[in-house]
Amino acid sequence: MARQIRRNKLNKIIDDKISFEYGKRIQPWKTLKIDWNYYMEEIKGLMTFTDGSKMDGRVGYAFIVFYNKTELDYRKFRLNDSSTVFMAEVIAIEQAVQYVKANDLGQVNIISDSKSALMVLSAVEEARDIINNIKEDIKEYKGKITLTWIRAHMWNFGYERADQLAKEATLISDETISFVPSRNLIRNEGNKIIKDLWKNRWNDSKNARWTKNLIDKVNVDRLYGDFYINQISTAHGVFRENQARFFEKTSLCLCDQKTGSVLHVIKECEIWTSYRRNWPSVWQLMSLKDLINNADIRISLRGLLHELLIKELDLFSSFSETDVSRH
Ligand SMILES: [Zn+2]
Repeated sequence: MARQIRRNKLNKIIDDKISFEYGKRIQPWKTLKIDWNYYMEEIKGLMTFTDGSKMDGRVGYAFIVFYNKTELDYRKFRLNDSSTVFMAEVIAIEQAVQYVKANDLGQVNIISDSKSALMVLSAVEEARDIINNIKEDIKEYKGKITLTWIRAHMWNFGYERADQLAKEATLISDETISFVPSRNLIRNEGNKIIKDLWKNRWNDSKNARWTKNLIDKVNVDRLYGDFYINQISTAHGVFRENQARFFEKTSLCLCDQKTGSVLHVIKECEIWTSYRRNWPSVWQLMSLKDLINNADIRISLRGLLHELLIKELDLFSSFSETDVSRH
């Protein structure tokens, strides 16, 4: 067993599987700790709930993106059966961080019920590559990622939904990621773990075979690409018409002229005129579906939605600051 543990620490990939424990001691001046907060009622703005789950010997994880109480997007994946719940919790956080970065979501709260996962991220002494990469990614992100712990089984819209999705994820037929079984892990969950998932390995020719499998299974575009476009195609999310249903907020658009519906924002609103300047001349005749299927328009729509989101979040934080000073 000691030999197996040592092998897991020294190798990133063993028999096409990822060693969660691969790592090296890092220089003391390069160590990082990422602190976490306790969940207090009603976090607002953008947040991502993460969860890992084990059911009937199968392991899955999920993360969900919310804007206030509106669900914007989610992802769920299965891990191989020898993975632990702790691994699933860590990977769920890792993927949520990657998602936030890939979509440039600005300020986001990542909420987990796994104290052991949050503890390893806040510990200075850590050799495992996977953990250290998460810390670095959070630190280097140009927006702001805050980690928050929520007590398990406390009733909460996001927690309940993450819990449900992570359980569903155990039923997926193909596993996305396969970890090397680790007796050390099984014996002592909160203790020692991971390896680099989405970062270096694409270039690493030694891992080519495994990488190919992963890319076949997980289309990277589908994974991260369409957060903003999804807002349009589902007519959910940041549009005021939708937000007004959940909060006592005005459904009037930022321009104060009309209801902030998807159609108004995309096709009419004067605030966004500059985004439509280079669209093909027939754009007014095009349906929303045609618009998002046009590659050039799609790019400017992503820009528009990104700016809209940032604007709405700014308004939100200035409202909540006013609230605080009134109390
Ligand atoms: Zn408007």
